[in-house]
Amino acid sequence: ASSLSRFSVVQQRAEHNDSQVAGPQLDEQDIQRALREGEFVAYFQPKVSLLDGQLKGVEALIRWQHPQHGLLAPVHFIEMVERSQYISEVTLQMLDMSLQHCRRWHDAGLPLNFSINVSARSLADSKLADAIIERVMASGIPTHHVILEITESAIMVDLGITLGTLARLRLKGFGLSVDDYGTGFSCMLQLSRVPCSELKVDRAFVNGASQSLHLRILLESALDIARKLNLHVVAEGVETREDWLLLRNLGCGEAQGYFVAKPMPGEALLPWWRANRERVQLLGIAVE
Ligand code: C2E
Ligand code: MG
Ligand code: MG
Ligand code: MG
Repeated sequence: ASSLSRFSVVQQRAEHNDSQVAGPQLDEQDIQRALREGEFVAYFQPKVSLLDGQLKGVEALIRWQHPQHGLLAPVHFIEMVERSQYISEVTLQMLDMSLQHCRRWHDAGLPLNFSINVSARSLADSKLADAIIERVMASGIPTHHVILEITESAIMVDLGITLGTLARLRLKGFGLSVDDYGTGFSCMLQLSRVPCSELKVDRAFVNGASQSLHLRILLESALDIARKLNLHVVAEGVETREDWLLLRNLGCGEAQGYFVAKPMPGEALLPWWRANRERVQLLGIAVE
């Protein structure tokens, strides 16, 4: 196969989950009401160290508790929200919910970090960055516990406008993560320009890597780049024991995926950790 067709396999895998769903009809009035009535909900998915099975943090993932359509996943609405004028407000609601839960986890003796997803387009509005900084400072949660996940393709579109804002956030101590790493274009060049602290390797590489030599080579080179640039690496979409072992052998830092846990409501996280701590920590020391 040519390298071009290998590349398009990765693209298709990356986009597969986002392209197949015909969802409910939603419009901007729905978003307005959802913001007002508190219909957006933050779910949290654990991120675990591949070295020792310690719980490091969580990623906040948006859900919409819609009065007619039930609990909606982001595939049904996030593109529309990102194109609307409401994306900053939605991001700030996600931040506030995450800060509240994070406070409880810290109080319970679990000093977790959390990630929120931020579209680079919304960061072109420097008021959003100001508001993020202000709210985190006011919360008492140290900024280094907060990671902003930015999608690569989105960084590219607004690179010029966004770089200064990203640098400002990084200087304040926020973590900056390049989300879906490997699925965008000219990603390597971007890494030299974006002041990031973390790479989040897209699940398209992770899922298939234990069966496909091609994907494994791409995954290895992503990990290699991260190591050389001194970036923290998180693999998303870790679904099986094989995925877990492969990533650990390749020296990846953290894993996130259904093999560890699905995204869950904030209230469920501490009970989940109490019930699963031993199993997850054993994964950390398990040998092949
Ligand atoms: P993402 O940031 O790359 O998040 C990872 C997605 O992979 C999540 O989908 C998560 O539930 C899913 N996932 C996690 N582990 C596994 C696994 O083992 N296997 C498989 N097949 N999938 C797994 P989700 O929650 O549906 O979110 C989809 C995307 O929506 C996110 O991708 C992110 O780009 C966007 N998104 C989510 N929340 C927000 C938000 O608050 N703001 C913005 N702007 N975008 C968001
Ligand atoms: Mg993300
Ligand atoms: Mg991702
Ligand atoms: Mg994604």
